[in-house]
Amino acid sequence: MPIRFVLVETRHPGNIGAAARALKTMGQSELWLVAPAAFPHAEATALASGADDLLARARVVPTLAEAVADCGLVLGTSARLRTQYYWPVESPRAAAPRLLAAERAGGAAVVFGTERTGLSNADFDLCHGLLHIPANPEYESLNLAQAVQIVAYEILCAGDAAPRAARRLAPLAPVEELERLRAHLGEVLEEIDFTDRRGGPHLLRRLARIFGRAGLDQQEVNILRGVLTAVQARRRRAGSGP
Ligand code: SAH
Repeated sequence: MPIRFVLVETRHPGNIGAAARALKTMGQSELWLVAPAAFPHAEATALASGADDLLARARVVPTLAEAVADCGLVLGTSARLRTQYYWPVESPRAAAPRLLAAERAGGAAVVFGTERTGLSNADFDLCHGLLHIPANPEYESLNLAQAVQIVAYEILCAGDAAPRAARRLAPLAPVEELERLRAHLGEVLEEIDFTDRRGGPHLLRRLARIFGRAGLDQQEVNILRGVLTAVQARRRRAGSGP
């Protein structure tokens, strides 16, 4: 399955066309668009130039969750280094071999944000790590299609050198499974009154990000889900469950 390049809520159709061209020149083929402002559009076609076949095949979906549901490794890109949550920040060069290995293990995606504001925290909830293109610290924000170009270029360069991925016994767990794990953990935390003193999604988000970093496979997710189910069963037996 080719590496999926996902553009979230792109405002300018020209950027979609330029991104398609960037991908095709680097040998990539898989463009997904999450709720684009205007697509298809003459400007996209014009900037795609000879890559209009990629545009024609681009998948348009309403949510990021849908675009990455079956991917085992999802990296979000950002011009800013976020400090609110701990994140393994990687350069495209460092991440490229990992993306290639994950692609072979079942599916990988790189996610790009909307022009002005980039990806939201909720978008990053669906990612396993942050990809940052090193740039001028005083002006780090690249044009969207140029960011796509650099990431795709590094993947192309890493292609020959990438070690063959060791065969995993179980494929990486897809995002939708991690989302179920997060929901289940949220339920149990509430049942055992292990709540965030600040309220809101902060604690659960931090915990869920540990799972994202760990690169869990399906069996590992099943084990964790089993632990949570056992906690619930024991509480029910003790008469304190729901
Ligand atoms: N202020 C926004 C900038 C958005 S630029 C932000 O902090 O992310 C639009 C998109 O281009 C970004 O969402 C990201 O996908 C990509 N991009 C731009 N500059 C980048 C950089 N230095 N590293 C990684 N991605 C970058």
